[in-house]
Amino acid sequence: MNEFRIAAIPADGIGREVVAAGRTVLDALQAEGRFSLAWEEFPWGCDYYAEHGVMMPEDGLEVLEGFDAIYFGAVGWPTVPDHVSLWGLRLRICQGFDQWANVRPVRFLPGVASPLRKADDAELDWVVVRENSEGEYAGLGGRNLAARGAGGEVAVQSSLFTEVGCERIMRFAFDLARTRPRRRVASVTKSNAQQYGMVLWDEVFRRVARDYPDVETESVLVDAMAAKFVLRPEDLSVVVASNLNADILSDLGSALAGSLGLAASANLNPERRFPSMFEPVHGSAPDIAGRGAANPVGAIGSAALMLAHLGLEEEAARIERAVEAASAQGVLTRDVGGSASTDEVTAAVVANL
Ligand code: ATP
Ligand code: MG
Repeated sequence: MNEFRIAAIPADGIGREVVAAGRTVLDALQAEGRFSLAWEEFPWGCDYYAEHGVMMPEDGLEVLEGFDAIYFGAVGWPTVPDHVSLWGLRLRICQGFDQWANVRPVRFLPGVASPLRKADDAELDWVVVRENSEGEYAGLGGRNLAARGAGGEVAVQSSLFTEVGCERIMRFAFDLARTRPRRRVASVTKSNAQQYGMVLWDEVFRRVARDYPDVETESVLVDAMAAKFVLRPEDLSVVVASNLNADILSDLGSALAGSLGLAASANLNPERRFPSMFEPVHGSAPDIAGRGAANPVGAIGSAALMLAHLGLEEEAARIERAVEAASAQGVLTRDVGGSASTDEVTAAVVANL
């Protein structure tokens, strides 16, 4: 039997509720006996920070390295500055384990009204591939406090684009496009205004595209792409973009599908030298935390992505079909127009497995 060691890091706010939901679904599936998951849960996050002054222990990455995958909730709480909590936990894991590809499918569910109101919403399905190791989140720059005296502080935030980083995420996107019904990759930049990194990105995209003559391509500016998400989403299949641009576009995508709470994601180390991490796209949502109101679908979908990554594609597909069935039956949380609790949606997904 396939046995996997999974590290669960629920972290903060609704992260805890949706990780519990995803575990319930996975445990129901593993009870059938075709695979088994050995879970270990780590209490890292903002509460841990309050006690220890760090978001995770010094040797946290070494501890995680022995696992087959990481199942993550959400990080952030009003008591800790967002950049401290994010860099102290989630980005530390992403960067420490070289999880350079962030895959964020945009999926529409039966029974959930999309603000797009297209007749064929149900047919919409695209994937945002996010460069996850450099770009605008490279952490480069600084603040010149000394300049305060000269009329105001100056801060510089630089983006880093490397040929290697651009090329690997683009090859990943093209390879993914080849597995999809529509073989098409759209590359997103703002290369008319950002004339160094994004121009390099465009050049690498054109070069890599020559190795995939069977895949259609287009280069689109990020502002135009935001409009396209809303006006012509049926044209999309794989959308590849830098760290910041893809972050924003994938939030837009999940909102178009009906709620941020629906969106799943995988932070992959495609070489499999290190564990990959699976998490819903949404954050810790302090406004609804602790009330049993969180939509668990993004986290459950992330659990499906995790199974697919572990080679359990059939089981992953069963989870996705069960989510669709529960949704079609109208078992929905408040964010998507229903009145069900997190636990009720989770139970409906389990019942439909
Ligand atoms: P982050 O900075 O981590 O991206 P954020 O502050 O941008 O987080 P989120 O926590 O992702 O925001 O969510 C924004 C709002 O969307 C929440 O306040 C909440 O109302 C709603 N929301 C997000 N996720 C869910 C969910 N799973 N179920 C229901 N509502 C959600
Ligand atoms: Mg956000």
